[in-house]
Amino acid sequence: MSSLTELSRSLNGARVLVTGGASGMGRATARVFASEGARVAVTDRDGDGAGQVAMEIRDAGFQAQSWTLDVSDAAAIEAVTAEVAEAFGGLDILINNAGVSGFTAISSLADDYEATWHTSLSILLTAQQRLVRAALPHLRGSHHPRIVNIASTEALGATAENSAYAAAKAGVTGLTRALAVELGKEGITVNCICPGPIDTDMTARIADEHKAIFARRRTALRRYGAPEEVAHMTVSLCLPAASYLTGAVIPVDGGLMARNA
Ligand code: NAD
Repeated sequence: MSSLTELSRSLNGARVLVTGGASGMGRATARVFASEGARVAVTDRDGDGAGQVAMEIRDAGFQAQSWTLDVSDAAAIEAVTAEVAEAFGGLDILINNAGVSGFTAISSLADDYEATWHTSLSILLTAQQRLVRAALPHLRGSHHPRIVNIASTEALGATAENSAYAAAKAGVTGLTRALAVELGKEGITVNCICPGPIDTDMTARIADEHKAIFARRRTALRRYGAPEEVAHMTVSLCLPAASYLTGAVIPVDGGLMARNA
């Protein structure tokens, strides 16, 4: 019998860049990486918020630094990614997480719809490919290079008046598969998580009562998820041992997509 290969589950010393790290799933992801021994670059267009998250992580005894990064700014993506790689001596993991929601009906005023479309595509989709392109030269120097793109269950099913968001998130799943195929020969894995309904600032406007009704009717687990529950899956996709998983689109949704009735 051949002996089994030992695959590492350690992220100790891994160098990670998280976008949209000031809040919600980005904040939770930064924290989980850091608690596993990674060095985390917490980036966000809200630079103060990113700074607070990095401080919270350092106060807990782990390693993090913050950068202001608006992912709709192409030049800033290049500059900040280079700064992070320089500060950390390289980069192993990119988490494309930053996002905004923007409900606008297709029959809205043309300018309103065009504005939502432009913002959604720019922040949710275009930024992800730009971050990958900026990170690639550094990821190529890593022993376990990993990319995780955050999409949404809106990429798999859809809600009315959310077409710009749904189109952008479906784009993220296509981008993920295409890059997985293109970068696979270099050992760079590219995977995608589709969160379902998660309690973060993005869903804070929805009344608790409506959240509870929705979750009971639609999810198998009958509740909203916590950002940490998504963060742990994101981090799992980045373990050195997660070396044969690429191009996957994984719902972390309490069974929303699995449930028919
Ligand atoms: P959140 O509002 O708590 O956090 C989003 C973060 O992204 C914020 O810190 C915000 O400042 C940052 N951000 C927004 N625009 C940015 C930009 N242009 N540049 C840099 N940072 C920017 O929301 P969240 O729920 O944690 O969202 C994280 C990701 O998960 C998003 O991509 C979102 O679309 C996706 N998602 C959320 C849910 C949900 O139910 N909360 C479900 C599916 C997918």
